[in-house]
Amino acid sequence: MTNIYKIHNELIVHDPTHDQLTLLQNIDPGFRVESIRPGSGFVPRFQDLRRQRITLDRPAFDFDIPELLSAIEQSDKSVHCHECDPDKIHEYSALGILFVIACKRLIDCTLCGRQCNINRYEKAGQCGLTTTPFNIDPFIHIAEEAPINPAFVISYSGCGMGCVSCIERALYKSSDYLKTDHKAFWERYARLKQEHDINTVEFSNLTESVHSVLDILSAAPMDMNLPIVANVHLYSGKPLYEIALRFVDVWLVDFRYGNDECAKRLSGIDNYMEYARLGMDQIKGFGSRSIVRILVLPNHLDCCLKPIVDILSEYKDRIWVSILGQYIPEHNAHRFEDINRRPTVEEIRALEEYSRKRGLRLVDSVHADRFWE
Ligand code: SF4
Repeated sequence: MTNIYKIHNELIVHDPTHDQLTLLQNIDPGFRVESIRPGSGFVPRFQDLRRQRITLDRPAFDFDIPELLSAIEQSDKSVHCHECDPDKIHEYSALGILFVIACKRLIDCTLCGRQCNINRYEKAGQCGLTTTPFNIDPFIHIAEEAPINPAFVISYSGCGMGCVSCIERALYKSSDYLKTDHKAFWERYARLKQEHDINTVEFSNLTESVHSVLDILSAAPMDMNLPIVANVHLYSGKPLYEIALRFVDVWLVDFRYGNDECAKRLSGIDNYMEYARLGMDQIKGFGSRSIVRILVLPNHLDCCLKPIVDILSEYKDRIWVSILGQYIPEHNAHRFEDINRRPTVEEIRALEEYSRKRGLRLVDSVHADRFWE
């Protein structure tokens, strides 16, 4: 859902769609919808998983069959994959099995760094979620990074982070979220795709609702051949990667802080750096591609932004980096003097310069042409 801000002499368009194209070109005559596409033979990983059949004598993803059956029995029928039926486990696709594993993870949830260890079939975790997923109406975002742009985006409610400047919390009321429905998702996709170009399908806030993502993918058209993008905070637990690394084509991760103190003060979370490191180590390989976003927080160049770049330089040959100057002091940011303003042009340039000096590949540079190689 698009939102337009006027802050001093700046006009900022948040999550623009095709409807705002003229406006964007009035603000910046050089604006165009940039897109770098995978080759015509690209097959998203989930479609391969869908074709793989699991048999009773062949364990799937290190889970044995009795363990899976017990997971299915414990699952709430309201979260039910159309492919999964306990009586037909020998007919399951690998994608269906992955869905069952994701449901099992909700029984003792450690999908994010909050490590609630609670049964989401019985109560909500600190993210506010039980097993029922909710989302904002999916839309086509026309100003994402070129390799994923334009992206058909579904944004889930519920997040393990508690950012004081969260733009989603500022913009949306609970009534803006609909119960996630895979049929409605693919109907909207088909309708919008007839009118507009789409390069990728992006799941935003995937960590806490990964079971729903798999449910949606198991109902995708068989000829859907666009890359799947996981837009996630870097505060996910290992169980999330064990599932998502199997089907995600592009990781779009948000590296927010360079130390635990800032993460605690501004997002209310513990051990952020440990989880950020875990995430970077997990996504650096495994056949997927990664774009790491750094949102330029005002007044955090030395404590957060440069240390993030220093860490990313250890992964520089495996990732692309996107520096975002679009921070807006939303939600409760006005209570924190250091982040209660937009970043300056000087802060953004200083970070870009430092990133280049440390050898990072910026996704808006010529390097991005090689993204799909
Ligand atoms: S996703 Fe995170 S916050 Fe939500 S229940 Fe699981 S561990 Fe807790």
